[in-house]
Amino acid sequence: MDALKNITLRVAGIIEESIVDGPGLRFVLFLQGCHTHCKGCQNPQTWDFEGGTLVSAEDILSRVQGDPLVHGITFSGGEPFEQAQALVPLAAELKRRGYHLMAFSGYTLEQLLRKEGCQELLELLDLLVDGPFVEEEKSLELRFRGSRNQRILNMAATRESGWSPVLDELNGPVER
Ligand code: SF4
Repeated sequence: MDALKNITLRVAGIIEESIVDGPGLRFVLFLQGCHTHCKGCQNPQTWDFEGGTLVSAEDILSRVQGDPLVHGITFSGGEPFEQAQALVPLAAELKRRGYHLMAFSGYTLEQLLRKEGCQELLELLDLLVDGPFVEEEKSLELRFRGSRNQRILNMAATRESGWSPVLDELNGPVER
């Protein structure tokens, strides 16, 4: 895959099959490095931009494809959007192959739209969980989110609305 040649990502970790990081069975890529430093962050080891390991985008694609049960990929962190430009060719290739794409960010959609180099990745996503983790807003009742201020955005509808944030139905209460 030529577009992926020579692209490396700084990765904090990988979970090859997860049911808690988005809808369905997903491959989760945790990107290393985060400037947000939320109080109460569960993964402070992902903050260091010199930490983690370098993994080639080609490697990640072949690992995703190696599991026929996986239909979605989640970019988590750390802060995936600090590596947005390096992620775009991989995300575009996964999208082309029919995978459902989701990302978490400590930035809000509004901040990402103003942040350099993030637009292309936003164009490719199906879901975005946005905003920092706020300890005072923490709840265990939320699906895929740690705190109430975070939003699960339906990105197709958000793009269609001219980038006004549109909440996905997954924001609703967790069924028990
Ligand atoms: S954005 Fe995510 S990784 Fe970064 S500090 Fe906040 S919770 Fe932790």
